[in-house]
Amino acid sequence: MVNYRTRTRWRNTTGNQLAEPLRIYTPQTLGELTEIVREAERCGCTVRAIGSSHSWSDVAVTEGFLVETGGLAHPLALEAGLLRAGVDPTLLVRVEAGMRLRELNELLDQRGLALPNMGGYDAQTVAGVMSTSTHGSGIEFGPLCDFARSIDVVGSGGALYRVEPREGLTDPAGFGAAYPGVRLVQDDAWFGAVRVGMGCLGVMHSATLQVERKFWLKEVRTLSTWARVRADLEAGNVLSENRHYEICINPYRRGSDNLCLVTTRNRAEPPTHAAPDKTQRNVLTEILAAQPLIGRILGGVFRVAPRITPEVLDQALEALVDDEYTNISYKVFNIGAANRLPAYSAEVGVPLDGRHVAAVETILRMADQRRRIGDVYHTAPIALRFVKRTDAYMSMMYGRDTMMIELIMAADTDGGFGLLAAHEEALYALGGRPHWGQFNTLTGSNRLLESMYPKYAEWMAVHAVLNATGVFNSPFSKRVGIAASAYKGEE
Ligand SMILES: Cc1cc2nc3c(=O)[nH]c(=O)nc-3n(C[C@H](O)[C@H](O)[C@H](O)COP(=O)(O)OP(=O)(O)OC[C@H]3O[C@@H](n4cnc5c(N)ncnc54)[C@H](O)[C@@H]3O)c2cc1C
Repeated sequence: MVNYRTRTRWRNTTGNQLAEPLRIYTPQTLGELTEIVREAERCGCTVRAIGSSHSWSDVAVTEGFLVETGGLAHPLALEAGLLRAGVDPTLLVRVEAGMRLRELNELLDQRGLALPNMGGYDAQTVAGVMSTSTHGSGIEFGPLCDFARSIDVVGSGGALYRVEPREGLTDPAGFGAAYPGVRLVQDDAWFGAVRVGMGCLGVMHSATLQVERKFWLKEVRTLSTWARVRADLEAGNVLSENRHYEICINPYRRGSDNLCLVTTRNRAEPPTHAAPDKTQRNVLTEILAAQPLIGRILGGVFRVAPRITPEVLDQALEALVDDEYTNISYKVFNIGAANRLPAYSAEVGVPLDGRHVAAVETILRMADQRRRIGDVYHTAPIALRFVKRTDAYMSMMYGRDTMMIELIMAADTDGGFGLLAAHEEALYALGGRPHWGQFNTLTGSNRLLESMYPKYAEWMAVHAVLNATGVFNSPFSKRVGIAASAYKGEE
């Protein structure tokens, strides 16, 4: 019997999601993980794995067995002998999926390697970022789940699977002999499904990732206006000319335009004898953002005097201007202390086909309207990031290059959740798909998921196997209509 705790509450890191799971497990081995799934099925309970609890949405919430995966965070041997002939293991790394990106980056650095891209933070786990299609910015890079080449999953019944695309890394004959108890599935549909499973397709135990040789990046942050950024986006060159390109925009106009901060990150040589201000971010901004009280004070200011919000946002963007920050890649991707400010966020992906520009205009118009009607304000700039299309079925970037619009709110913003919900609704009309890990109001009504995701049926077919008993159902999967109700009605 695997040890567990009872009568313990769980909250996500922001504190906006609360659950009272029946049991909380902290498995240390694959054997314990499979035993937990079987025990849940014996008890008629559900199982939900959590990573670092960094999702703002209810995607990690469970009323059944909650599985903390911090004990499953070790590097694993690649087992080069089990790779298909011709596979080059040099740029592959295999780890347990509860490993946080922070430790993964350190591990890769020690080996002279690096993740090709990252989001703005590193506290999330490998399984957590894959499961919600977490992404960074840079049109040559898909979401982080695209770095996975092979994933080991525990499905319903405690069954073990290694899932890869057709012609995947693993040599079937060698693997079958070495692991007779594990089913090797080399199938594009399965691989399309399991990478983004929102916790509903079993528990990921480990993954083999494609990485790069370690590299350095130079980040430059300049001020612009929405009119200029819009022209650049319409021309499109900025996306291909920069390895990474992203925008922060003040939703409120100063004069006739909205202030923008443009961030580019491009490959650089390792800095030698560089001035300290070139190898670290703006020190004052970092120190201020790292103070736990700053976020609360700002929240208080926005509450007492909401009308100064547009001016505060302009000043925040101006404070971030920087002509050079050069460092090892994963430090540049990480936006630093700003991640610790108390905040929550919604993010919606729209196709990069012209609707992306219309989407920004819609957001700006609505922000202005809500400000006038109800004195409700965005209390952080809006971020625009660019992600390459993926073939992961339930990724927000499935089948289309995507612009992600991130709408961040300081914690305690009056009317904040309502404003985010209104934006999300408006962006559906422009092909918007909400980020699974960020605040969203999706429901199973009106066949929304089917209309957003062309491969929903294929994903559900894999779901029917990996979650055959419903053991990976959750309040989230019921909300969005993935989990069928057990109630059959009167026959
Ligand atoms: C400060 C901050 C910065 C962020 N920055 C970005 C960003 O730059 N880009 C972006 O796209 N998103 C960003 N996010 C969102 C975040 O990356 C996602 O919500 C991510 O899923 C959180 O990972 P986690 O490890 O905390 O997973 P959790 O939040 O704990 O879980 C997320 C989902 O993964 C599932 N899961 C976790 N472990 C497993 C497992 N072993 N097997 C199966 N399922 C599992 C859970 O059941 C749940 O469905 C940010 C969030 C915060 C709080």
